[in-house]
Amino acid sequence: MPLNACELEIDLFCHGMRLPPAVALTGARGVSRTRAGLGSGLEIAIPAPSLAKREIWMNVPVVESFAEVSPYRLTGSPEGGYSIVDDRDLAAYPVRLPPEPSWYARLTSRDVPMNRIGVLQGTYLGIYVNPVCAFWNYSPPQNCQFCTTGQNVGSAEAAVKTIEDVVETCWAAKQESGVTFVHLNGGFQGSRGLAFIAPYVEAIKRDVGLLVGVQMAPEYDFTRYDALVALGVDHFSFCLELLDPKWFARICPGKAHMHGQGLYLDAMKYCASLMPHGAVSGEIIAGIEPLENTLKAIDEIAARGAFPTVCIFRPTIGSDMEQWPSPPYDEMRRVMQHMYEACRRHWLPIGAAPNIEVSLVVSPDDAALLAERDASFYVYATYRWLSRVVAAPVFRRRMRAA
Ligand code: SF4
Repeated sequence: MPLNACELEIDLFCHGMRLPPAVALTGARGVSRTRAGLGSGLEIAIPAPSLAKREIWMNVPVVESFAEVSPYRLTGSPEGGYSIVDDRDLAAYPVRLPPEPSWYARLTSRDVPMNRIGVLQGTYLGIYVNPVCAFWNYSPPQNCQFCTTGQNVGSAEAAVKTIEDVVETCWAAKQESGVTFVHLNGGFQGSRGLAFIAPYVEAIKRDVGLLVGVQMAPEYDFTRYDALVALGVDHFSFCLELLDPKWFARICPGKAHMHGQGLYLDAMKYCASLMPHGAVSGEIIAGIEPLENTLKAIDEIAARGAFPTVCIFRPTIGSDMEQWPSPPYDEMRRVMQHMYEACRRHWLPIGAAPNIEVSLVVSPDDAALLAERDASFYVYATYRWLSRVVAAPVFRRRMRAA
């Protein structure tokens, strides 16, 4: 039985895909190791006619060792289009390879190629703004074990990104790729991270007019979140990663020493109280700790008024967890179904913001394809549609440059 688009997305995250050398990728987006390294796959769009957005975007693992033995392989050509074939049953799934934007190769006024400032991840722009996450500077390093930021900043991406670099790249992405949302992240910067990012937020809102998301390690002084909201931040995300304290300490030693999980959950709850419903998310990784913990983490996040954003663990090349296995499909399907149900129970308006398709995670929106088609499904679908309609003028206003 063929998989639906969301099931295929999940299975591709779990197995990766082979890229036979004979398949030309001319014009497709190149593999990018920027930020934590999770974009190290091939960006694709899977048709999903029964979803309002019509396509599911994803970044398929292709370089990791588990992808070399994947049952999936890419076939086709730039001229004739592409399909992914599952060699277990020879099912073929048509896919689209989104083109690489021409602005990637353009230089900022400081002569930095724009794709060393930011890259598209799905349909939004991702920029790692701050200096390299301080967890990499400790001896021994305190970095999260799945992350490769310390290897990427300064090599795959520019070590220093000025406000001008960022504004010019945002402009190009908005004008030429229709980007509506820029996601700024920066890892752990002690108590200076939120202050460091504030002038970038201010300049993007004033000079470009994009929705802006901020993903930084939480800080104890919550008034800094008020300041960022006053500057126009549209979205905060907090990377809780794992629920069990023992797993958290093992995989994220820096976060465990400096913050503890309570700070992530408290900051999430605080920001959710400041912002419109659905403007905050809590990120976790599925496939490392036992399944029951992941399901509970989703409930904890949703109970604080935040979106659960669930990343399927990818043993990224160069990370400390490079040799770990990728997780099993059945468990990940269950996780994503649970995520959708948690959003429904808490009336989170998933998919309300315009043109934000994420490729690194299975979005709650995608997971609607896993839900049972009962009365509650249709009531929630209607609520989501109404949320989109009501929010549209608000988002248009927030995307106006000053
Ligand atoms: S906080 Fe962890 S995941 Fe984020 S950049 Fe630092 S080491 Fe990487």
